[in-house]
Amino acid sequence: MKNILEFRQVCYAYHSMDGEVPALENITFSVGEKEFLVIVGPSGCGKSTLLDLIFGLIRPEHGEIDGDRNTIGYMLQKDHLFGWRTIEKNILLGLEIQHKLTPETHAYAMELLEKYGLYEFRKKHPNELSGGMRQRTALIRTLVTKPDLLLLDEPFSALDYQTRLNVADDIGSIIRKEEKSAILVTHDLSEAISMGDRIIVLSARPGTIVRTLSLAFDPSLSSLQRRETDTFKKYFSELWKEMNNIVP
Ligand code: ADP
Ligand code: MG
Repeated sequence: MKNILEFRQVCYAYHSMDGEVPALENITFSVGEKEFLVIVGPSGCGKSTLLDLIFGLIRPEHGEIDGDRNTIGYMLQKDHLFGWRTIEKNILLGLEIQHKLTPETHAYAMELLEKYGLYEFRKKHPNELSGGMRQRTALIRTLVTKPDLLLLDEPFSALDYQTRLNVADDIGSIIRKEEKSAILVTHDLSEAISMGDRIIVLSARPGTIVRTLSLAFDPSLSSLQRRETDTFKKYFSELWKEMNNIVP
């Protein structure tokens, strides 16, 4: 498998008036084409920092990051849809900002709306949609710019539990259907096991990699179906013990 992103011994610390806050230490990993990598770790361990490093918002203090920044899409915790814009106009926003709105890219955006059941809602505003539909809109807005790698920062954490499971299932299946590479960060272990091809477990701050685990699920299972399996329970109890050891 070809790698589309590589971290080599990356360290990062925030500097403030009170001194230095080490956030990440000695992070080495890679992501392959079409791989779904999940990074799981306790709150404050440096997960968002890691995504900001990948996206190029901040630079590593030590170590190297290799990858093509031009083909990355970033989806945040809140959907960040603009309330005064319709769903259609929200979805076209990324293209407008990047000056890439052409008849072709517009047609592709409409195709995605159609394919993922949002076309009939295109003239509605975000507050007229459910939380799940808004997250789907946010994902499609990210997909219209045709990124090779998607970064997802705890994208379901604002949703209630029931919705969260369904939306995770929905978003996961769209990402697989579109054959994207993805890095999802979460503090939710069961979410990590239900969605990833591989899991990296980070320690509490400063985040270091304490464990990497490839998940061996039948590829035809959805994330909801994974949760029903014994394999899921086995991974969960194994990693749960590990995570309890690292939370201070
Ligand atoms: P996570 O996303 O895993 O919850 P973050 O990457 O947001 O963690 O933050 C990692 C650590 O760095 C946290 O302890 C946080 O308090 C600290 N931190 C984050 N941003 C800043 C900042 N701008 N200045 C100083 N410290 C920060
Ligand atoms: Mg975070």
